[in-house]
Amino acid sequence: MTAAMPEKSPAQRLLDHLGPVEGYHDHEAIGDFGMPTRRSLEDMLGPNTTETGFAHAHLGPLKKVHAFWFAGMSCDGCTVSVTGATTPSVESLLLGAHPGIPPVVLHHPVVNMESGPAYLRAHEQALRGELEDPYVIILEGSATEETLATETGGYWTAQGEQPWGPGGEKRTVTVEEWVARLAPGAAAAIAIGTCATWGGIPSADGNVTGAMSLMDFLGKDYRSAFGLPVVNVPGCAPVGDNFTETVAAILYFLQGFGPLPEFDELGRPAWLFGETVHRHCVRGAYYEEGTYAEEFGDPECLVEVGCWGPVVNCNITSRGAINHVGGCMNAGGACIGCTMPGFPDKFTPFYKTPPGSMASTSASRLLGSVIKPLRQLTNDHLNREVRWDLHHEVPSGWARHEPEPRAWQNVTHKFYDSLRRSNDRGNGKTEAAAWGKRAELSRRRDPTVERHLPGAEGAESPGVAAELAGREGPEGNGRAPNGRAPAGRAPTGREPTGRPGDGNGRDARGHAGDGGPRQRRRTLRAHTRR
Ligand code: SF4
Ligand code: SF4
Repeated sequence: MTAAMPEKSPAQRLLDHLGPVEGYHDHEAIGDFGMPTRRSLEDMLGPNTTETGFAHAHLGPLKKVHAFWFAGMSCDGCTVSVTGATTPSVESLLLGAHPGIPPVVLHHPVVNMESGPAYLRAHEQALRGELEDPYVIILEGSATEETLATETGGYWTAQGEQPWGPGGEKRTVTVEEWVARLAPGAAAAIAIGTCATWGGIPSADGNVTGAMSLMDFLGKDYRSAFGLPVVNVPGCAPVGDNFTETVAAILYFLQGFGPLPEFDELGRPAWLFGETVHRHCVRGAYYEEGTYAEEFGDPECLVEVGCWGPVVNCNITSRGAINHVGGCMNAGGACIGCTMPGFPDKFTPFYKTPPGSMASTSASRLLGSVIKPLRQLTNDHLNREVRWDLHHEVPSGWARHEPEPRAWQNVTHKFYDSLRRSNDRGNGKTEAAAWGKRAELSRRRDPTVERHLPGAEGAESPGVAAELAGREGPEGNGRAPNGRAPAGRAPTGREPTGRPGDGNGRDARGHAGDGGPRQRRRTLRAHTRR
């Protein structure tokens, strides 16, 4: 009985179909052809990509790393977003500006200055094993089933011509062929964007090109020369920083300066795609309070206009689109699940309330109907200074009149505050020591005292004059000449305020002094009337 042969991957089938290659361009003869500036990008970066460049970049075994970028069935959106990355930026990676990260020599069909055979020189060296430094391959856009196209003599996506035809004739080389030939020797194969990571839009229903992901193309047994399966950084278009940060993390690891970056079971950087986008959404609190946008442009949660955020792995709301700015819900757009393997077919039709969200939005609405008014109540309370509470007045000149809280609101907050503080370390204690403060600095202050400063309103009244005199006693310690605490300045906050009255702790109107806010308000009114 013979063991079943493992099924060949599309990449292997393509190479079987095309056969091996031998001939290469004669670069001596070609000279500067295809290099209008007479210099390659690597030459331009020369000072940084050689050992005489930034010494700090050359810590570790890798002096530089080549990155071969290929565009399959793509819209070039990944290129646009990656060239806009800022942390780290492409420029800083190319210049070797990060200590411990080897400079990256990029071979990109849009960015590089070389063209024609000159552009493909390093590709050929990599294929022949003559490149001195390690290389990675990066695919943007889906891979296609090129064998379908070759049946009719055509191709779906291609990059350059090589003398690989019959008898050394030049023939167009497909992107898939380059990828299939270079992948086994690469230090890492990285798929960028949802087309390359999961097939994306080109592989949607009606797919005539056989478009598929890099992972599908290379097969599940694929391992890079350094033992890595395909690394996937999805998004349509992806967050540029997600890509450059992943590349930097891999390079740090290869250089021996960082831990092995954590990837999930689908090869996504786990620290970037481990959470749903909903968990960090700027509109999350609206969802929790059961408040939903009715149309685009509303500031609330977008789930009822079709947002898939609660079930989608993405970090755009916390990372932003470019330079930590923008990104779907931050900018008013609902999530359509573009980072997900099921995109787009499993998410269509877009912009329709997902029936599954009904249960959670109804529950949030119910909960929100209780929570929201309570939060509003507390918010109103916290939007007032303690001083305004004591003086029953908000001295704001702005047009909107601030109504005073009703009695039931004050009672509710008194109750809530004592509940909130019930477990405090200094619960029920007025001693400063319980709070670790010096006693003389933590004495309660009578809020009416400022009106009693010399020259202030009411200061000339006999009671206040006596109080002020008492405060300036011989010891200068805030005590009266007789050494007692001045009447009206109750160190414990409990003694009567001792306004002119019957000398028995009652005020001028005969009310018993309790030292509390009520007493203080009465006293204040009495003095200011004089
Ligand atoms: S807009 Fe989308 S991601 Fe944001 S809170 Fe609403 S459902 Fe969640
Ligand atoms: S929030 Fe949704 S639509 Fe926007 S990038 Fe993330 S997955 Fe794509």
